[in-house]
Amino acid sequence: MLPTKAYAAQSETKPLEPFNIERREPSANDVLLEIKYCGVCHSDLHQARNEWKNSMYPMVPGHEIVGIVTKIGSDVKDIKIGDTVGIGCFVNSCRKCTNCKNGEEQYCANTAFTYNSTDNGVPTFGGYSTQITIDRNYLLKIPAGLPLDATAPLLCAGITTYKPLKTWGAGPGKKVAVVGLGGLGHMAVKIAKAMGAEVTVLSRGEQKKEAAKQLGADQYVATNVAKNIESLAEYFDLVVDTVSAEHDIDAILSTIKLGGVIVLVGVPPEGVKFNAHNIISKRRIFAGSMIGGIAETQEMLDFCAAHKVTADIELIDIKDVNDAYERMEHGNVKYRFVIDCATLN
Ligand SMILES: [Zn+2]
Ligand SMILES: [Zn+2]
Repeated sequence: MLPTKAYAAQSETKPLEPFNIERREPSANDVLLEIKYCGVCHSDLHQARNEWKNSMYPMVPGHEIVGIVTKIGSDVKDIKIGDTVGIGCFVNSCRKCTNCKNGEEQYCANTAFTYNSTDNGVPTFGGYSTQITIDRNYLLKIPAGLPLDATAPLLCAGITTYKPLKTWGAGPGKKVAVVGLGGLGHMAVKIAKAMGAEVTVLSRGEQKKEAAKQLGADQYVATNVAKNIESLAEYFDLVVDTVSAEHDIDAILSTIKLGGVIVLVGVPPEGVKFNAHNIISKRRIFAGSMIGGIAETQEMLDFCAAHKVTADIELIDIKDVNDAYERMEHGNVKYRFVIDCATLN
């Protein structure tokens, strides 16, 4: 076993603190990587604090991992030592079910998530650590030219937004709205723009107007003013809703054209409510989407490299991760914290 420095939550009420874990020696199809950077996703905070009531402790969070290959198993032919690679939200799946066979491993009933999960009965530990061993089939290649720190958030926030944008046809001639401008929303704006769509940010007040423009949004609309919503009646082809708090879905639905789509990627804990009439009357589609499969995640990374899309980040020392959680909770980050994992040493 390989002794590895990490940061862990020991219970739902404890802050993250130093913790020693062990990684497995790479077997024939495994790759060992030195973790360079790990993004801080809002779901890290939810799980560290057991807000989804499924947490296992000790917990080493982190599923936006980039690093450098330091060791490879004998059967690994397409990865070499020194390559830049990434790991997203899961590290294994059954490989036999329909979803796995269709490249949608994230919907496998037996997905081994990168942390707060088990892989062949062994607890998984995430990227707030110095190294990790992973099966080649679940590893992503980071294309040359992408800055590693700002690339880390693509592994969750990037694929979470890329997948629905692609599925529902964001591109030239399409009008796309992004609801919410946090970690997910800012990636949605950048990726939708790179796909060639007209992009509008919908946000409660005027506060984020300048930020939205800086990210490349064509329009910004404050949704707390009724006449703003009315002026957008039946306007959008696609709405990507990233908000994970209670908000007015009916107002958003009114802005979608006949047969258009709203896709949820945020999870308001209290659920969502809307008037069925607002779907039926314009044949609108209410959809959801969760991350993406391995092949799609690789495709997203290649797309982002080709279009020079990365996250806007604030790089932090591991000792500041608890403060980062506090700030993230209050929406006080532009737009993603990324841990410099060298600071674990
Ligand atoms: Zn995430
Ligand atoms: Zn499966």
